[in-house]
Amino acid sequence: DAPAAGKVSTRYDLEKETELRFEVESGVSAEQVQMEVLTGMAEIFGSELNRNKKYTFGPGSKIAVFTWQGCSVNLYGKPEVAYVSKDTPMLLYLNTHCALEQMRKQAEEDNERGPRVMVVGPTDVGKSTVCRLLLSYAVRVGRRPTLVELDVGQSGVSVPGTVSALCIERPADVEEGFSVQAPLVYHFGSTSPGTNIKLYNKLTSCLADVFSQRCEVNRKASVGGCIINTCGWVKGSGYQALVHCASAFEVDVVLVLDHERLYNELKRDLPHFVKVVLLPKSGGVVERSKECRREARDEKIREYFYGFRGVSFFPFSFEVRFSEVRIYKIGAPSIPDSCLPLGMSQDDTQLKLVPVTPGRDLTYHMLSVSNADEGDNIVESPVCGFIVVTNVDTQTQVLKVLSPAPRPLPKHTLLIMDIRFMDMK
Ligand code: ADP
Repeated sequence: DAPAAGKVSTRYDLEKETELRFEVESGVSAEQVQMEVLTGMAEIFGSELNRNKKYTFGPGSKIAVFTWQGCSVNLYGKPEVAYVSKDTPMLLYLNTHCALEQMRKQAEEDNERGPRVMVVGPTDVGKSTVCRLLLSYAVRVGRRPTLVELDVGQSGVSVPGTVSALCIERPADVEEGFSVQAPLVYHFGSTSPGTNIKLYNKLTSCLADVFSQRCEVNRKASVGGCIINTCGWVKGSGYQALVHCASAFEVDVVLVLDHERLYNELKRDLPHFVKVVLLPKSGGVVERSKECRREARDEKIREYFYGFRGVSFFPFSFEVRFSEVRIYKIGAPSIPDSCLPLGMSQDDTQLKLVPVTPGRDLTYHMLSVSNADEGDNIVESPVCGFIVVTNVDTQTQVLKVLSPAPRPLPKHTLLIMDIRFMDMK
């Protein structure tokens, strides 16, 4: 534990089924806040807390300490806000978990597959938090559910601009979230599905295929089912992407957070055997500004290269000759239908690999290192890691890159992201 000495401490006594909500100031110079359970029992987003242990929350954290039975907790430091709320949807969320657990039991008995659940709603309604809660509750009763992360803006699993799947084997760590070991990650390349909706839907299908294959050979994974986190884009093509996802994963349950129209549309458009459930959002969910979201994305990339709190990584910087690698962008700029070559459709252009010759404008871009081998379909292959271009020398034809692993690169097919990272370390 980091020492709480010298910090102001404030005690809160919580009645049963209430939560203490607090926010830590954002910005690099902001002071951390610590929290300790003194008596009773409490949890944070589905993960149980140990008594008399100080948990530390960094800048920008927005936390709810919920108690089923009542408890008292101490906060050390100066949170931006802190208050107790009696009005939480936690009972409804718990009931949702119980219903899913019932479906898993039934699946076990009938030798069927467990529930596949899609969580949808606009941005900032607590989708990721509900996913985390349901996954942690499921592992706590011995299940092995899979998290499918389709939020390319704020991924809980990998860097922004990716979609991924992760088998959940233990509840989320209170401070750090789910332990990310061996996730399956695909390159999307930007933080909004709208930049290439064809690619987004294609990758959703890839994840669904891999998950279904795994379920065929792994009974626990099959019974555990999956919880799919989606983007907050719920109109037009964003809505179509949700319908596509529901069909690709053959979802059984859709949880709609705080959006009645979306709920009605999905009820109308999805097959009748899909249970569509409307759930309220928690009043504690805080709207994040664009700036706040951008910071969170940057932080996620920084973590990828430099580690998180207790664990520090030391990334490598080295040179890569242009001739050593093949760099592509996925998706050719769209052209009017009338100009397309005979027999080619817009779909083809969105999934097309466009070779890129490195220029100065590549500086600071993130690149995905594709796992594809010779002859593999690169677009549909997972990635094995990410690098950032820190310099391009067109004279000597050399790139300088930041990489989590030392030279040489494990593979030589690189995919460009729209996302840039300026290393301030
Ligand atoms: P979404 O996935 O819909 O964009 P999130 O689940 O990421 O939303 O929630 C947004 C923010 O609100 C997160 O920082 C999360 O920690 C916080 N949050 C969620 N539920 C609560 C709550 N009950 N009290 C306080 N903060 C919360």
